[in-house]
Amino acid sequence: MASTQQKSQTIQPNDFDAVVIGAGFSGLYMLHRLREAGFSTRVYEAAPDVGGIWFANRYPGARCDSESIIYNYMFSEELYQEWTWSSRYPEQKEILSYLQYVADKFELRRDIQFNTRIMAAHYDEQTNRWKLQTEDGTRITAKYFITGVGNLSSSNIPKFTGLDSFEGAWYHTGHWPHEKVEFKGKRVGVIGTGSSGIQSIPVIAEEADHLFVFQRTPGYSTPAKNHPYDPEFIRQTKANYSEIKRQTRESTAGYLHKLMNDRSALEDDPDVRQREYQKTWDRGGFGFGRTYNDLLLNPSSNETAAEFIRSKISETVRDPKVAELLKPTYYYAAKRPVLDTNYYETYNRENVTLVDVKSAPIAEITPRGLKTTEAEYELDIIVFATGYDGMTGPLFKIDIRGRDGISLKEKWAGGPETRTYLGLTNAGFPNMFMITGPESPSALSNLPVSIEQHVEWIGDCLEYLREHGIETIEAKAEAEEAWSKHCREVAESTLFTKTDSWYNGANIEGKPRGFLIYVGGVGHYRKICDEVAAKGYEGFTLLSLSSRETIS
Ligand code: NAP
Repeated sequence: MASTQQKSQTIQPNDFDAVVIGAGFSGLYMLHRLREAGFSTRVYEAAPDVGGIWFANRYPGARCDSESIIYNYMFSEELYQEWTWSSRYPEQKEILSYLQYVADKFELRRDIQFNTRIMAAHYDEQTNRWKLQTEDGTRITAKYFITGVGNLSSSNIPKFTGLDSFEGAWYHTGHWPHEKVEFKGKRVGVIGTGSSGIQSIPVIAEEADHLFVFQRTPGYSTPAKNHPYDPEFIRQTKANYSEIKRQTRESTAGYLHKLMNDRSALEDDPDVRQREYQKTWDRGGFGFGRTYNDLLLNPSSNETAAEFIRSKISETVRDPKVAELLKPTYYYAAKRPVLDTNYYETYNRENVTLVDVKSAPIAEITPRGLKTTEAEYELDIIVFATGYDGMTGPLFKIDIRGRDGISLKEKWAGGPETRTYLGLTNAGFPNMFMITGPESPSALSNLPVSIEQHVEWIGDCLEYLREHGIETIEAKAEAEEAWSKHCREVAESTLFTKTDSWYNGANIEGKPRGFLIYVGGVGHYRKICDEVAAKGYEGFTLLSLSSRETIS
């Protein structure tokens, strides 16, 4: 009720200190941080409520692979003490409830305009303000323009011939209806075996009459080992709030997993290695990837982890031909690894068929189902678990233009040459900030940790600009060139760049390739950003309000 009342008070003049796009984890905290600092701030959100991807990404079995106790905000100890997660990995519904709780607690909805898609954001060099336009033509102006659009909000539906003719129902996992989809008595086809496919397949299989899984590339999946939280564990976690906050902020990827063995996988004899992998496998979670220190650096070490998982697939899946098809051959974890509950076991069910669409690709969708180059499958429902145009896709949905009318899309057209400064800002786009933008740790980290770091850095920056009478802040071209080069060099030293994945744009036809995530470590990255600020925003041009002179 309180929320509805807040929504009705939102009509205000359309000029703000700051405009933020998106009311997910990023936009909600950005709004709170800026409002607390006295900046007039408005969030625009295309959906009818808060939640960001967790509002729409509600396919059966949707859960986060980050453990609940760290998949939340840490900026408010009071909030951390108040909220209690029910199980080791948070379910979509519970994450959405959490974000709704946050919105209510901090009374955020009164400064969020829902059901409003921002189509364009152009920088006006005469007034040094951003001019934005909504889908219905409403114009908005703001001094600062901040994107909180997420890394995976632009869904990829491959352009299959005939989809329009399909007589059944079809859904993309990232835009799932709010009403329950009935699978009972239905022949269902799931296309895609990434995180969304691997999570949804076991759940859909339990209900559907028959499930066909159309797999092009198998994923590496290890057990999640989800379980309800024990009250004593929750008590200890809450008591350790400060330590958990410190550890995640200083960590490699925003998690609490400790490196199990600070040595190469190749230093251990095969039987010792087997035992070490078994230990992390049994614990469940992403800790498996931290069994040794060089799994993402050394191809031979990586192969030992990959082979361990392949052996588990053989042990689990009864039909040896199906087991072979499920075994990935690329570098383990160079493409996003997945955590599952009963994924491989699902292929022992009589109502599940694995279809290899690598050897016989999908040729077309027909009125009655789906045709590969070898056979036709009759289907009532098709589920596209086909992923996203990651990192740049959500930003490109908005026509963002900086100085001289240059668009972000034009600036980044080079792909691998994509340039940002710190993954936060772009030369030519003054007073614009990207929360978890390309070339920041973003999608290869536990996102709430990275989001909080960006929000706090941006908040501190805007306060600094106000205190020092600075009108514009803009990344220097040479600073962003150096940052992008550093990003590429760090990525090149790993196996991430040696495997096709959405991380480097390989999943989208025609998308320029480029590895757009900073993999130098969340803690290390934070130090770099803090040093930049401590040196008076090194690498930026700051233009003063009164004299219009360059300050640094
Ligand atoms: P994804 O990892 O990109 O997987 C997409 C799948 O669709 C792949 O198996 C891909 O095969 C297949 N595919 C795409 N186009 C196809 C075509 N034309 N024909 C046949 N198959 C096709 O997407 P996702 O599973 O939605 O996951 C995306 C990211 O979202 C994850 O990596 C993760 O970061 C995040 N996510 C996280 C969770 C979680 O925390 N539990 C859950 C869901 C998503 P190829 O590999 O051959 O391209």
